[in-house]
Amino acid sequence: MFEVKIWGGAGEYGRACFYIESQGVKWLLDCGIIKRGSGVLPELDAEAIRKLDYVFLSHVHEDHSLALPLLYKMGYRGAVYTTEETCAALPHYFSKWLKWLKSQQFPLPYTMADVDCIRYELLSNPMTWTAIGDQMTMCWGRSGHVAGGIWLMFRSADKILFYSGDYSEESETLAFDDPAKMLNETDCVSLGIVDAAYGIQKMSQEEGITNLLNEIDVRTAKGGTILMPVPIQGRGQDLLMILQEHRFKAETMLIVEKHLYDAAVPAPETVYWRKPDYAKRFHAAKEVKTHVVSDEATRCHALRQSGSMAKIIMLPDALLQSQTAQWYCEQLQSASEKVILLTGYQAEERLAHTAQLMKNTGFVMMSTYYKVHQNVNDAERLIHRLRIRQTILFHSEAMAVTAMQLHLAANGYTGADILLP
Ligand SMILES: [Zn+2]
Ligand SMILES: [Zn+2]
Repeated sequence: MFEVKIWGGAGEYGRACFYIESQGVKWLLDCGIIKRGSGVLPELDAEAIRKLDYVFLSHVHEDHSLALPLLYKMGYRGAVYTTEETCAALPHYFSKWLKWLKSQQFPLPYTMADVDCIRYELLSNPMTWTAIGDQMTMCWGRSGHVAGGIWLMFRSADKILFYSGDYSEESETLAFDDPAKMLNETDCVSLGIVDAAYGIQKMSQEEGITNLLNEIDVRTAKGGTILMPVPIQGRGQDLLMILQEHRFKAETMLIVEKHLYDAAVPAPETVYWRKPDYAKRFHAAKEVKTHVVSDEATRCHALRQSGSMAKIIMLPDALLQSQTAQWYCEQLQSASEKVILLTGYQAEERLAHTAQLMKNTGFVMMSTYYKVHQNVNDAERLIHRLRIRQTILFHSEAMAVTAMQLHLAANGYTGADILLP
């Protein structure tokens, strides 16, 4: 049996943090925050933290990682088990968040000295059952959500637990491993903690991309300007590939910030995480006028060169709070047909911020989908493929989970629990 305590991430969006106990072994899956105000931390239990044997981290994103230093501050002395890519990208996430908190004069929950206390153990041997301690075996595979992102499976006392992490089988560019391959014919998963961030929004990736490109075609045909805030990892790189490959109906300049572009350039460190044809596609997609910019001078130059041509500006600043975002808004004051194109989850606070920005700058907001998570249909397929007896649908607000339960129950599956932190 697995005993689960939800410290965050189910019945809400963000701060994924699941405490698991089986056969006297205690471990934690992820330790993230909700990026609202000064940050909403998971409900950490100091006594349980001191007794933890392991902590596993599925991927680098804030809602899974940013509370990790607190574990050490509260007395955890074990390691964080994760992939090399996640480990390499993490310090930037911690320092970026602390810097932002400081700039807003919010209290800091920890310092970079606490960050330095984290001890990492790098996971190797994907898709292989490996002993961890003498009570348990575990395996992991690529989750298709971000480079370095993984799902995890644990076998303890002949029972199996599956944690999807953030999970998508539909990425344009990222490879994924089928967890079903790790099960024998007679195996079933006793407990699944399954990404269902899109709830009952049932759009497929294909429909989402078609809608996105239609919207872009309509705007660019009128010589419009599209500001696209994207995360640097995962979705940002997929969208860059899609736009670079798109045959625009009107002449369009794609303006991309250098560190977003650099992260997308095929490299030996990321080749394992991407689909086999990625490098070929990336180099073949030269039809579009892509301008890579890195500072005010190059941004000015790109805007001048584009003149009255339609343009899409990709900013690795999901909240549009950076000085660069501000700068573009000022420069584009007199442009017509200005759109902020959102492609991900819109937290209330973010919508409010974007609405304020629109009011001040004359941009219109548009929202489309590019899937990097699962909706209820995807989760349902995975539940059946892995024969999951009991499922915690995570990464969604409580109302959305209830709607998904009803959907699953109507199709005959009653194993989905609603559990809140
Ligand atoms: Zn994520
Ligand atoms: Zn997440």
